Amino acid sequence: MNVVVQNIKTICTAPEGINLIVVKVETTEPGLYGLGCATFSYRHSAVKLLVEAYLKPLLIGKNVGDIEEAWQLMHQNAYWRNGPIENNAISGIDMALWDIKGKLSGKPLYDLFGGKCRKGVPVYRHADGNDASEIYENILKFREQGITHVRCQCGGYGGKWSDGPLNAPRGAIAGAYLDPRKYIRDTADLFESIRVKAGRSVELIHDVHGRIAASDAIELAKTLEPYNLFFLEDILPLEQIDWLPRLRSRTSIPLALGELFNNPAEWRLLVSDHLIDFIRIHNTQLGGITPTRKLQILAENFGVRTAWHGPGDMSPLGHAANIHLDIASRNFGIQEWSGTEPPNFILHDLKGPKDALLDVFSGMPEFKDGYVYANDKPGLGIDIDEREAAKYPCDDAVVKWTQTRLPDGSLHTP
Ligand code: MG
Repeated sequence: MNVVVQNIKTICTAPEGINLIVVKVETTEPGLYGLGCATFSYRHSAVKLLVEAYLKPLLIGKNVGDIEEAWQLMHQNAYWRNGPIENNAISGIDMALWDIKGKLSGKPLYDLFGGKCRKGVPVYRHADGNDASEIYENILKFREQGITHVRCQCGGYGGKWSDGPLNAPRGAIAGAYLDPRKYIRDTADLFESIRVKAGRSVELIHDVHGRIAASDAIELAKTLEPYNLFFLEDILPLEQIDWLPRLRSRTSIPLALGELFNNPAEWRLLVSDHLIDFIRIHNTQLGGITPTRKLQILAENFGVRTAWHGPGDMSPLGHAANIHLDIASRNFGIQEWSGTEPPNFILHDLKGPKDALLDVFSGMPEFKDGYVYANDKPGLGIDIDEREAAKYPCDDAVVKWTQTRLPDGSLHTP
């Protein structure tokens, strides 16, 4: 049976106030379609345009089963490649083609990846708060849900939105102000306090979000060593990963890195030189399931475990892709999970009505007692109600949280 691509469209929706982009690939087989995540929340219109104006004409009439051919065709067609907008657009189609392959074979995707090597996926959640007591209370709530690994942040990533601190220069511009030296001291105090309260009953994670200078990052890593973290996340920004060999030689703290990566050149040496312990990438940012699975297998060969990015600004299709890979990966480490069940601490304030996400998307991977389970439906197992999705239009407002500033008012990577 020769099933080919008949139509490709994008569905932009923000049921929780976070822009999500879904790609729907329709086929010549009546009723058969695939869905994929192309969510680049902060450039959603550009991704939509790229899918509809450039990738759709490229793929109409192509065999839906030839995913590797389709991926390379999309990846190479514009000559310049590996950018985040392009990769997210490719991801939407790549995931949809995998979804179709699963539906045609009647199997969930983890089965096509080699089958289950674990029944459920252990996940880590985010405990945020204004001080150690608040964070500890949230850790206890997660422990009651069976969560064993918790990421702890004091006030998000340490930068509060303001017109500038008192010691900022005259005319300083508003932004998310962060004092890196104070942040290092406060973070050390936070983990000291949490270990005193929680003992060794929980695995702790912290995300630096690449917000400090490389020499400060080395100091932070050494300062946190006594608190036995499961890993320290994104200690350096993408642009400064050349510091890793020096950092690695100075600290024994396990490192997880990579949620901003776009390009194999960014992770290959990190994996093959054992400069990181956990590879964490954002699957749509790589271009979907095809490149993510290749990276997972590369990492397995070098003893590097996976900790895929699973934030609020990712659609349920992207989360489901993570879970299907996790179930079938021998080198799985842990999965970040933003979840739909309370307490749901994600970076952004949720603006949509409660459960709106579940009105739009059905088949979400199920969380129970510390584990997430893929449903056993063919493909990714997720469907979308397009009429519900249309009730929640995307937000075109200027993105503010990425405007991180140092005490002197200059911009720093977010
Ligand atoms: Mg992170």
